[in-house]
Amino acid sequence: MRTPVPEYLQEVLDDCVGLGEGAVADYIPELAVADPDVFGIALSTVDGRTYSVGDDEREFSIQSVSKPFAYAAALTDRGLQRVAQTVAVEPSGEAFDELSLETDSHRPKNPMINAGAIATHQLLGGEGASPTDRTDRILEFCSRLAGRQLSIDRSVAASELATADRNLALAHLLRNYGVIDGDAHEAVSGYIDQCSILVTVRDLGIMGATLANAGAHPVTGEQIVSPAVARQTLSAMAAAGMYDGAGTWFSEVGIPAKSGVSGGLLGSLPGQVGIGVFSPRLDAKGNSVRAVEVCRRLSADMGLHLMEAE
Ligand code: GLN
Repeated sequence: MRTPVPEYLQEVLDDCVGLGEGAVADYIPELAVADPDVFGIALSTVDGRTYSVGDDEREFSIQSVSKPFAYAAALTDRGLQRVAQTVAVEPSGEAFDELSLETDSHRPKNPMINAGAIATHQLLGGEGASPTDRTDRILEFCSRLAGRQLSIDRSVAASELATADRNLALAHLLRNYGVIDGDAHEAVSGYIDQCSILVTVRDLGIMGATLANAGAHPVTGEQIVSPAVARQTLSAMAAAGMYDGAGTWFSEVGIPAKSGVSGGLLGSLPGQVGIGVFSPRLDAKGNSVRAVEVCRRLSADMGLHLMEAE
């Protein structure tokens, strides 16, 4: 590609800014008041360079984009085998908040849907961790990946907790089958804190580049997760990161990714780049309309599709 990266990213942003379809998530009151026009894009390479355009310093709650990171932390804390007893890695083909578990094992189908993420959150911090330990663990883990101290948006967390009936139903279902023990309300509250961590698109780009770099931070060189954990996390993102749109996404874009209801999108292409995009208007599957289009463009223009031979 001949155009310098910042100019190219600006061009992509300008081309996608006109996409006015979709609607901000309104089932969490605090998200319903988000400015729908905010738009930022960041691209981080595995050799430690980050480029960004638009509202690249605007913080937003990470929401479901936290799920791959919680999965990676749980794999690190508990090991692959123990985590696999709690959560599978099959695409669900269902909405992110579906009340459903695997028929025989009663495990959630994957860590990218809410059922799987609530169960995964309970594994954080190792055996005997308290609810505070689990929240501290995911905040510390995400901060290390981002390379700066992140914080939790308490008003988003409170707003979500006040309207969390569906996630509470999921936690009770998980408890009923012994997938989680402990208090269902505490499990949901911890998971919601995790979803309320504030990030920018630049943070997501660097976090994604760390996963893409076999778990080694592209700037500091710190090995934050093992290559095996990075591989497992990216595999789960490829299988289920875009919920019931995962198959279409992978065939069209070909980048392991994770979306969230605040409008964030994380992409992580092994050996190459991390991508962070934010724009709050969502399509019917809960994925940011502009962010999906940005990734389609990046994939096509830069030849990023994982299934494409060089
Ligand atoms: N915190 C949100 C929820 O549990 C996350 C969902 C999402 O981003 N898709 O409903």
